[in-house]
Amino acid sequence: MKILVAVKRVADYNVKVRPKSDHSGPDLANVKMAINPFCEIAVEEAVRLKEQGIATEVVAVSLGPQAAQEQIRTALALGADRGILVQTDVALEPLGVAKCLKALCDKENPDLVLLGKQAIDGDNNQTGQMLAALTGYAQATFASQITVGEGQLEVIREVDGGLQTIAIKLPAIVTSDLRLNEPRYASLPNIMKAKKKPIDSTTPEELGVDVAPRTQLLKAELPPERKAGIKVEDVAQLVDKLKNEAKVIS
Ligand code: AMP
Repeated sequence: MKILVAVKRVADYNVKVRPKSDHSGPDLANVKMAINPFCEIAVEEAVRLKEQGIATEVVAVSLGPQAAQEQIRTALALGADRGILVQTDVALEPLGVAKCLKALCDKENPDLVLLGKQAIDGDNNQTGQMLAALTGYAQATFASQITVGEGQLEVIREVDGGLQTIAIKLPAIVTSDLRLNEPRYASLPNIMKAKKKPIDSTTPEELGVDVAPRTQLLKAELPPERKAGIKVEDVAQLVDKLKNEAKVIS
């Protein structure tokens, strides 16, 4: 089984991203970048399938600037076999990403494409679903468990208020939820080994995909700051404030 894993370069989840002073977008200058956490979970799942002898090859794909090579290298250090960078400086939208991934699916013929359920920068939660529509592959989103069977997968999905188990035919698109696994840390020897693994480079143009944005970012701003809370002396005062100040009870 050949697995393609999509890894996105995003601002590290520990960084508090601020808008640029002219509010034209997030200020990412000198910000620490990392693999999107849900993509890291997708890589871990692919590597575990390889370790179990189920997957034969794991290919990590990233779309973005030249620097997105760093995230591909991280995926290689975690156990992926080779990488593909689709290099562009255009601010990509999910449809553009999905079209490029579809073009790569046509070339690579993977049995399984693993993606994160969402990227923590744009919070779109769209790319996997769009890729499934474009390729016609079966899809299972928000996966918290994947079991591989003969020509099919059984996937437990995290849905509102519970879990749903579905069976889908291969080839398939699966997007990872938080509880799918706990990603490992890359060991130093594996980081060194990853430097020798191949990364191919292409562009959306070479793949025949127009990634020009369909939406325009009008303004980026922080949410309004929450007012400081107060301490009340006793329950009577709390009830009084809820009744007469907040007016949430009568
Ligand atoms: P999104 O639909 O933007 O929330 O992203 C969902 C998933 O699609 C991510 O977790 C990645 O697996 C994949 N993806 C989105 N954008 C990119 C990108 N530029 N490069 C690689 N993978 C991406």
